[in-house]
Amino acid sequence: MTHYLLVANWKMNGLAGDIDEAIRIADGCTHPNHQVVICPPAPLLSRMSTILDHENVHLGGQDCHSSKSGAHTGDHSAQMLADAGANYVILGHSERRAFHHETSELINLKAQAAWQAGLTVIICVGESESERLEGRETEIVGDQLSANIPVPESGKGRLVVAYEPVWAIGTGRVAEKAEIANMHQFIFQFCQRHLASEDSIPILYGGSVNATNAVDIFSVPHVSGALVGGASLKAKTFNPIFHSLPN
Ligand code: PEP
Repeated sequence: MTHYLLVANWKMNGLAGDIDEAIRIADGCTHPNHQVVICPPAPLLSRMSTILDHENVHLGGQDCHSSKSGAHTGDHSAQMLADAGANYVILGHSERRAFHHETSELINLKAQAAWQAGLTVIICVGESESERLEGRETEIVGDQLSANIPVPESGKGRLVVAYEPVWAIGTGRVAEKAEIANMHQFIFQFCQRHLASEDSIPILYGGSVNATNAVDIFSVPHVSGALVGGASLKAKTFNPIFHSLPN
């Protein structure tokens, strides 16, 4: 049976009162093979981790610093995320690349710190609308992947790639099935070239995934799940996506 992964990116949304929503997500998303990762804002992580106790539900951070500790006001390290109960961290989300000017090289330094801290890294890649219109989408995604693959020994088996076309994030526009298929095939082949034959890297799709389009998206070859933003904030919109995963 194929294993799927569904990641809930809460972004900068959620207060203590919303932990109940995470419980409703965890209670409603049980499956022996499919995994859920809830990535709340960092201040909620430790409280969530003391409350959630579901075998297939994990917690993740949305970013980390590349250093272990030090004079970095306002930042948190990968080790701190792990200490607060996270097993995963999202790195290189397009909002961090755009609003915090993160380069693929910096994202790789963060990934190395995260692997050292024992986390699984979810690296986001994706082209902007103008890059796609110029026909440069595989060049852009290839460059973003090259900075992070091959994976060092410390990260072996602990990398997930999330393909998120920037123009599909939070816009209600979903990439066509053929566009998703072409890019996932490209990423799959890229990873294959750099992996030992027994390893595989899950490839998630992200960008306006919801209960209506999920079945179609999950039917595309080399789609191993999804990274969900807006629809992940409530169990009533997230759980039906989970139940759209192939059995
Ligand atoms: C995201 O934040 O990574 C994302 C895909 O958001 P949305 O599902 O809202 O498009």
